[in-house]
Amino acid sequence: MKILVVEDEERVAHFIQKGLREEGHAVDTAADGEDGGFLAEVNDYDLVILDIMLPKKNGVAVCRDMRDHGINTPVLMLTARDSVEDRVRGLDAGADDYLVKPFAFEELLARVRALLRRRSDSKTPILSIADLELNPISRSVMRNEIPIRLTTKEYALLEYMLRNPDKVLSRTLIGEHVWDMNFDPESNVIDVYVSHLRAKVDKKHTVSLIHTMRGQGYMLSVKAPPA
Ligand code: CA
Repeated sequence: MKILVVEDEERVAHFIQKGLREEGHAVDTAADGEDGGFLAEVNDYDLVILDIMLPKKNGVAVCRDMRDHGINTPVLMLTARDSVEDRVRGLDAGADDYLVKPFAFEELLARVRALLRRRSDSKTPILSIADLELNPISRSVMRNEIPIRLTTKEYALLEYMLRNPDKVLSRTLIGEHVWDMNFDPESNVIDVYVSHLRAKVDKKHTVSLIHTMRGQGYMLSVKAPPA
């Protein structure tokens, strides 16, 4: 999943970014409300973590502008103190949830998981295609009921593909969703990860699920695309 963290306290931003990356998310950061608001409007994030007290433009105004511009990305607000007024202003501006600082990282992760789950909008959390299954709660992957061990990046890539089956996913799209804004689209990093994933997911199976779309990108599908 791709997450934007808007937080001016460098130490806190770094802590959140590092922790979310370890969970396999692609994380961009912005240190003020103007930059954060801009990134939230030009990129397609799955979640925005938004501090309220920010330089240039506060989090409540950022959130309200996002909603006014039709951006429905879930927003998790961070408030410095447990002030009812702040929370109400945040929720009124269109935030989906809030967390009071200081917080335990485990709690942040639980909120993030809940919001992403709501976003994925499915009653059954299991993502599957043919005999390949991914459980976002336990972060486990199985094919034909045999567990597959993936690195966090391979897992993130497969999750993205499973959320977008039967669609051609260009390297640019994959880069935007699975890596972060520092990703170099000229590099062959995506091809390398796809080949690792293919070795783990498709090798030894008669039906290949990960297809190369020549000159276009990749597609996850039960049916082999026309050559
Ligand atoms: Ca702040």
